[in-house]
Amino acid sequence: MTDHRRVGLIGDPVEHSLSPAFQQPAFDALGLDVRYELWPTPLAMLPSRLDDLRAGRARGANVTVPHKEAAFAAMDDVSDLARRAGAVNTIVPRDGRLYGDNTDIYGFIVPLRERGVRFAALDAIVLGAGGAARGIVVALLDAGVRRVHVVNRTADRAERLAAALADERVVPAPSSAAIALAPSAGLLINATSLGWDGQELPVDRGVFAALPSTSIAYDLTYRETPFLRAARDAGRASIDGLSMLVHQGARSFELWTGQPAPVEVMWKAAVAARAARGG
Ligand code: NDP
Repeated sequence: MTDHRRVGLIGDPVEHSLSPAFQQPAFDALGLDVRYELWPTPLAMLPSRLDDLRAGRARGANVTVPHKEAAFAAMDDVSDLARRAGAVNTIVPRDGRLYGDNTDIYGFIVPLRERGVRFAALDAIVLGAGGAARGIVVALLDAGVRRVHVVNRTADRAERLAAALADERVVPAPSSAAIALAPSAGLLINATSLGWDGQELPVDRGVFAALPSTSIAYDLTYRETPFLRAARDAGRASIDGLSMLVHQGARSFELWTGQPAPVEVMWKAAVAARAARGG
């Protein structure tokens, strides 16, 4: 018998996560007797966490840094999106098997659709070639983007990402190429891990001014970052990562419960939790 009262976040570390702050109010709003827990999990403990889930000791889980790829490899069944991203952020136990999905991909695209972005005419620059970047490139390809330039500090990682996706619209490039690519880019995305601390930019400051005036700068970080400040200083529109976080969480919630997520409740709770932590 599955214990439907528990859902948890698997990662290392997890203490900083905003997910409990907006998932718990969502379960409460629907009157579901479910607790969203933090499950700190060093890599050596990952197999036993997954065994617990397989044995039905919880309704489901989210997976965060650094286990999304390892979790993918351990699933019994995965969605097509998870397979193409090579990463899983949501797990649902089903009849003794683990099903893995990637809701980051959905969450990422929502704020762009809300802004009416026309993907067919869009060239995007993705900064970074890690797990998050790969999911984002999949999201952009599915949205119908014209070209995605993957710009990474370590050039061969960008090349590996492009090779894995095998789509001619994905073009790897070294960091030095960003300034030349900027004038035709409608979207500049920070999918590096730079921004949580410190003042470093993942790209030369001049890139922001070189973007067309209608471009959007999108940072996956859900805090104020040097990237977002530099975009605003150059007069470009910006999107931070909070919407992506909430919408990936809403899709996960639907996978665990089979019910529509109360997105407004989740959004308000996430905004309040971020503000309580000083933005
Ligand atoms: P990874 O560790 O897999 O990748 C990190 C990337 O950042 C690599 O491309 C790496 O380049 C680059 N990088 C790291 N340090 C530097 C530096 N000093 N200068 C230039 N590039 C650097 O991380 P993830 O892909 O899992 O996550 C990336 C970010 O996305 C994180 O901040 C994460 O929190 C965020 N995220 C947000 C989500 C949301 O819901 N809002 C969801 C998922 C992720 P290199 O290859 O050269 O090392």
